[in-house]
Amino acid sequence: MDVVKEFGSLVFNEQVMRERLPKDIYKALRHTMQERRDLDIEIANVVASAMKDWAVEKGATHYTHWFQPMTGITAEKHEGFITPCDDGKVIMEFSGKELVKGEPDASSFPSGGIRATFEARGYTAWDPTSYAFIKGKTLCIPTAFCSFSGEALDKKTPLLRSMQAISREAMRVIRLFGDGSITDVTTTVGAEQEYFLIDETIYKKRPDLVYCGRTLFGARPSKGQEMDDHYFGVLKPRVAAFMDDLDEELWKLGVVAKTKHNEVAPGQHELAPMFSTTNIATDHNQLVMEIIKTVAKRHGLVCLLHEKPFAGVNGSGKHNNWSMNTNTGENLLDPGDTPSENARFLLMLAAVIKAVDEYQDLLRISVATPGNDCRLGGDEAPPAIISIFLGDELTSILECIKEGKPYDGHAGGEKMEIGVDALPHFPKDTSDRNRTSPFAFTGNKFEFRMPGSSVSIAGPNFIINTIVAESLSQFADELEKADDFKSALSDIVKRTMIEHDRIIFNGNNYSDEWVKEAQRRGLLNLKSSVDALELFSLEKNIRLFEKHGVLTRSELLARQEIMLEICYKTTNIEALTMLDIAKQQIVPAVIAYMSEVSGAIIGKRSVDEGLGCKLETSLLEKLSALSDKLCDKIEELEVIVETAKRENGVMATAKVYHDGVLAKMQELRETVDALEMLTKKDCWPLPSYGDILYSVK
Ligand code: ADP
Ligand code: MG
Repeated sequence: MDVVKEFGSLVFNEQVMRERLPKDIYKALRHTMQERRDLDIEIANVVASAMKDWAVEKGATHYTHWFQPMTGITAEKHEGFITPCDDGKVIMEFSGKELVKGEPDASSFPSGGIRATFEARGYTAWDPTSYAFIKGKTLCIPTAFCSFSGEALDKKTPLLRSMQAISREAMRVIRLFGDGSITDVTTTVGAEQEYFLIDETIYKKRPDLVYCGRTLFGARPSKGQEMDDHYFGVLKPRVAAFMDDLDEELWKLGVVAKTKHNEVAPGQHELAPMFSTTNIATDHNQLVMEIIKTVAKRHGLVCLLHEKPFAGVNGSGKHNNWSMNTNTGENLLDPGDTPSENARFLLMLAAVIKAVDEYQDLLRISVATPGNDCRLGGDEAPPAIISIFLGDELTSILECIKEGKPYDGHAGGEKMEIGVDALPHFPKDTSDRNRTSPFAFTGNKFEFRMPGSSVSIAGPNFIINTIVAESLSQFADELEKADDFKSALSDIVKRTMIEHDRIIFNGNNYSDEWVKEAQRRGLLNLKSSVDALELFSLEKNIRLFEKHGVLTRSELLARQEIMLEICYKTTNIEALTMLDIAKQQIVPAVIAYMSEVSGAIIGKRSVDEGLGCKLETSLLEKLSALSDKLCDKIEELEVIVETAKRENGVMATAKVYHDGVLAKMQELRETVDALEMLTKKDCWPLPSYGDILYSVK
């Protein structure tokens, strides 16, 4: 593949638009994209026609409004360009109206009660800020999905709204610095994607993987990740071939896939793209999650995006690198060199510190999924406690600002005046950075490490954008009124440190001491998604989203309901899958093996009554005791699932599933895993952890 030539060849991007659209139309479209406004229908007609011609030349026959409903995955309904003519022939047509608005009969998507069934249809609206692209034979048009009354039914709409909010509030602050060339601020994101690859034939023998995406049973393999020999290890030829193919597919779609390597657990890998505007990064990550599965299949592999497919080895996350960028190309989280750049940096940093401390609950909620509950707090993932890592140097500088003390590294040992003195040098070296922190400053961006590998990053990013917009809004209120800008700015940075430095923690987030320390500091520790989601509807949160026009009260409540529903429905499917496997596969296998062992005892005794059968009887006793326990655990799980189903209301139901059903599932699993360790391999009905984790040779 000629990478330079093929890159973006399936995308209706800047270059194609410039080539194919009349100059005035192109300009009008650019304007709409920058101002994020509605497009004139005349212009839409010309754009649609050019898009269609381009797509048809590339072999497309259909178009689809590509959208991101609350399921977290993408949705598409394909419409042909084909239109009949009087002469019995057909032409390929695509109008501006079809480009701008679609009405999928999408009544089966979760709406959290927003959409009454009598007006079940929602509509999709073109998002011109993200380029259209071709997938297979279909022109895909990125769209937002709303109800007829305009309420958001998708992940994209609040994200776009939050981008506007942070742009607006950041600009209020930026203007006060007097740099007229900056007219817009966008947020940027680079999402590192972790995943597992396993062989398809093995996958098909595990109903738990097929139905739930994770293993519900499985004793630990003799070799896990303890040797650290997989991380950054040499790629196996089959994995390398898959990754090459994946890169090429993604490049054609304009996704700048840049880094690939083996991760810590056997069979685990990572892909990182170059960062882009949040909205595009989100669309691209959705595409990555889709393409990665299709390409894996072509190679006889299955890609697992679940947060915790295997107990006992690392799970998968998605590191969300986030920053703010100006239209002049400046990164607002880059400390810069001059006192003025430093002051702006400190103010932006303060905005993030304040936001993260005040809205710990929302950040935790932004990553609340049942899959992530199996991962957060494990040894490999940040705990459910939110804190910020700044590094020792930057923290000491901020502590000195807070206390009005001179910083050692500062020339002359005088106390630093923000906006007048240059920031003392602090190392931007990322080599020793803290990998255990959930929200880490990494030199010129923050890396939010809590999102799970399968989630849409729209969720975490609309929350980060909105909470930082709120800090900036409060800062702007104060600064706009101030007589002396520099001293007001200094006050804000100082005050932020006084009020919010409890959120800064540079130590080991995985340690037990941190859990105690965090509790002393009054930080939240919301262990489960259900605990976290309960706080979503706090008045302070509703007020925040309404103030910035990101979510209305009813949109927020609907989202809370949908997320809770996803939690308990997932657990219900898992519990039923476990029961099926246990009853239909494990029980018969264990009975067969016990009968084999007892047969051996009877056989021996028939030769000579006096022969010892120590090994056989000891094994049979252990199997028998565990099989009695298995019987009990199956019954207990069945009972609790029935109880949970009878619960009223989403919150109560979600709680019983989380506290009751999950606990019983764990007990059943432990019993089955113990049986697996005692049973002859040929008799065990499921491929073992070793078989799965080392299935790709
Ligand atoms: P690592 O975390 O593996 O050391 P990097 O720090 O180079 O790797 O970057 C990780 C991710 O962060 C990449 O996707 C990269 O594009 C992204 N990134 C870098 N700068 C920014 C930025 N200003 N805004 C958002 N993401 C960024
Ligand atoms: Mg990283």
